[in-house]
Amino acid sequence: MTKGKTVRVLSVAVLILMLVLMLIYTGSGHGRECRRDIFAMNTYMTVSVTGKDCEAAAEEAVREIERLDRELSATSDSSKVAQLNKEGRGIVSTDMMFLFNTSKKVYDMTGGGFDITTYPLKKAWGFDTGEYRIPSEEELHELLPLVDMRLIEVNEDSGEIVMPEGMETDFGGIAKGYAADRIVGLLKNYDIDSAIINLGGNVRVYGSKDNGEAYRVAIRCPEEYTNVVNGSGDDRDYLGILSVNDKAVITSGSYERFFEYEGKKYHHIIDPATGYPVDSGLVSVTVIGEDGATCDALSTGIFVGGLDMAKAFYSRFHEDYDLILLDEDGTIYATEGVADDLETDGDLIIIRKADS
Ligand code: ADP
Ligand code: MG
Repeated sequence: MTKGKTVRVLSVAVLILMLVLMLIYTGSGHGRECRRDIFAMNTYMTVSVTGKDCEAAAEEAVREIERLDRELSATSDSSKVAQLNKEGRGIVSTDMMFLFNTSKKVYDMTGGGFDITTYPLKKAWGFDTGEYRIPSEEELHELLPLVDMRLIEVNEDSGEIVMPEGMETDFGGIAKGYAADRIVGLLKNYDIDSAIINLGGNVRVYGSKDNGEAYRVAIRCPEEYTNVVNGSGDDRDYLGILSVNDKAVITSGSYERFFEYEGKKYHHIIDPATGYPVDSGLVSVTVIGEDGATCDALSTGIFVGGLDMAKAFYSRFHEDYDLILLDEDGTIYATEGVADDLETDGDLIIIRKADS
């Protein structure tokens, strides 16, 4: 054989080998993608899984979301949370025990900003039913003494929770992050490559994409700030894109659920100290970390605390969590652990751990 012929034969052989490998790869289910869209926990959710067992894995994820929704929804009379609120005491499930403990941990981390006993306040403003109203000063004042999760007795050994009379709790600020963690735990039992779980803007990424690249997660931006951040006339509805692998990226914003009355906006994150919707100067808080439940609760608690509290938080907890904040002037703040992974056209200030 001449040299030219040998090269040609070799090239064809390599090509055939590549084709066979590709067929084996796709035949084995790699690169398959399964997506489910559902409405649960009062929001739109999407689960996208890639890999061989993606079908079964996505189904299981949906079943888990539905199970947790039934168990944890404070507004549905038949849920375990509603039952506990009605009776004031009871033996709770392992999910609920975990949520009580994690909520208390985040209550402490945020100086009481995250407090699940804000539920009676949420009801007073009509955020439970959507029948919005403005409660009177006196009405809020009467409710405030029972807004304090330190008054809940948690008995780890017997699994019993005891609350003072009239106290009610709600896991609305933590349940979606917890659901994402539970799903990731279940996905590990399947032969899949990666997944992205988006539970109403609470994103959890599992693994990385086929080509090994990071997932790109858009960080939501309140509508009235998109032009401030991205420039007027720009139609992008996010404040930036974060590249991440294997992390939760959880955002709380005053734009998620709100109503307007006489030109003023009232939103659904309540300041446990005053009973009013939080007015801390922040309009969006994103927390990035491994543990979705904690990140979810933190996003709500840091929203309550504001920028200075966020800086102090970061100098204490920078090993486990990063933050992306938007303040009411349209300035973006990102902590140094994620600043390089955030693409944005907005004004960006980097928060360093030594800042406070
Ligand atoms: P979203 O549900 O839009 O993702 P959050 O995670 O911030 O936003 O959760 C807001 C929900 O948390 C409210 O609808 C309410 O159920 C509950 N909540 C409101 N204020 C507080 C608070 N200060 N601490 C704990 N939970 C809260
Ligand atoms: Mg939250």
